[in-house]
Amino acid sequence: MSNIGWQPELITRYNIHGPRYTSYPTALSLVSPMLEQPILSALARSSQQLSLYIHLPFCHKLCFYCGCNKVITRHQWKADDYLTALEHEIKLYKPLIAHRTVGSLHLGGGTPTFLTEVQLTRLINMLETHLGLNVNAGHEISIEIDPRSCTLEKLAHLKSLGFNRVSYGVQDVNEDVQIAINRVQESSMVAAHIAMARTLCFDSINLDLIYGLPMQTLTGFARSLAQVVEWAPDRISLFSYAHLPSRFAGQRKIKNDSLPSTEHKLAMLQLGIEKFTDAGYQAIGMDHFAKPTDELARVQRAGKLQRNFQGYTTHGSNALLGLGASSISQVDGVIWQNEKDVKPYSDLALANKLPVAKGVTLSVDDRIRADLIAELICHFELNTQAFACKWGIDFEHYFADSLVRLQPFVRDGLVSISESSIRVLPVGKLLVRSICSTFDLYLHEGQTRYSKVV
Ligand code: SF4
Repeated sequence: MSNIGWQPELITRYNIHGPRYTSYPTALSLVSPMLEQPILSALARSSQQLSLYIHLPFCHKLCFYCGCNKVITRHQWKADDYLTALEHEIKLYKPLIAHRTVGSLHLGGGTPTFLTEVQLTRLINMLETHLGLNVNAGHEISIEIDPRSCTLEKLAHLKSLGFNRVSYGVQDVNEDVQIAINRVQESSMVAAHIAMARTLCFDSINLDLIYGLPMQTLTGFARSLAQVVEWAPDRISLFSYAHLPSRFAGQRKIKNDSLPSTEHKLAMLQLGIEKFTDAGYQAIGMDHFAKPTDELARVQRAGKLQRNFQGYTTHGSNALLGLGASSISQVDGVIWQNEKDVKPYSDLALANKLPVAKGVTLSVDDRIRADLIAELICHFELNTQAFACKWGIDFEHYFADSLVRLQPFVRDGLVSISESSIRVLPVGKLLVRSICSTFDLYLHEGQTRYSKVV
C-alpha cells in the first residue's frame, strides 16, 4: 500500500466532524456584513499574482448527493443574464487589480458546461478584455465538465478557447448507484471524452470518485476503481460522501438505509487507496492521487504543495479572486464570499456594488494558525523551530492548549512530536483534518455542520 497507514479502529475513533481546511478560518466562520474597505485595501496592497475562480451555478438536473451551490434549470437564457451580472462584477474589480497579472483560471459550479459554446466564448472574452487573462501564457486554465452537458464538439471548443485542464465527475460507474443519486451517465460517454481530451492534447485530465454513496457495495465500487484505473487519468480525487440532509435539501431524497455502513465505507476507501497506489499513482494529501509525472505530484515531492478553496493546488501562493454567486476570495489576509443566491448576487452586481455577503480580516493569530494548518495538511510535517522563528513566537507556549489536545493523537501513534517537529505518522494521514482541528480556535458548537473527516 501507500505511505498512508490503515488501522480501522483508530480511523473510526478519530473520524469526527471537521472542516476540510481549504482555508482558515473556514467559510462557515465568515461574518456578515463585510465592509468594502478591507477588500479594497487588500487588493491595493497585494502584489501577488491572481488566480481566478468563476462560479457558474446552473445545472440541468439535480444530483441527489450534491452539496454545491447550484440552480437547477432548463432555461439557457439564465446563463446570459448571469454573464451580464458577472461582467458588471468583473468591471468593478478591473481598476482594483490593474497592477496585477492574472495567472490561473478555474471554472467550477454548478456545471460550467451548462454554458453554450457562445456563452463560454463570451466569458473568456470578458476575462481577457477586462482582467488581462492570457490563455497563451502557460498558466493552468481548467474547467469542471459534466459529460452529460458537454458534446465532444464543445470539448474541442474549450480547447480552442485555451482550456488546458479538464476535470470530470464520474462518482461511480454502476447503474444502480447512478440511479440512486439521480446521475445516470454511461461509461462509454466518459470514455469518449477521455479519448477526445487526449487527442486534443489537454495537459491534464482529472476524474472525481465518491465513496459512501447510496447503493454502493464493495464489489461494485471495485468495478468503479478498475474502470478509472483503466482510463488512466492524470489525477484522481477520491472524496467521501458527506450526508448532511439538514444542510442540503437534495440529500433528503437519499434514504439512510440505502447508505453503506461505516465499516463498508472505510473498506471502499482502503480499496481505493490500494488500487490507485498499486497502479502507480502517488497519494497527494488526504484524498488525491496523481501520476508521478503530473505537476501536482512533482510539487508535492518538492515540498511545495499548497491548498486553496479548490483543494490541493500548485499555485496556492497566488491571491485568489472568486467571481460569481457564492465565490470566495482570499487576498493578503482578507477572505470574502459573494452572495450565495443568484438573484441578490445579480442585483448587487448590476447596481455596480461588490456583491459580497460576508467575510473576515485575519488576525495575526488567524494567520499563524492558517500557516500551521496548511503545513500539516499539505506536508504532514511541521518544523516547529523554523515556524517559531518565522512568526516570532515561543511555539510550546503559544500552542500550549493545542499541544494538550494533540496528546491523544500522540498516544495512539497518529502524530509524533519532537523538540523541532510535529509529524503526522502514516496512520494519521487520513485523519489529518482531525489533527489540524486541535489548532482551530473557531471549532466549538458548530462542529457538526461539517462532514466527517473520512
Ligand atoms: S453534482 Fe454537479 S452536476 Fe450534479 S447537481 Fe451538483 S453541481 Fe450540478
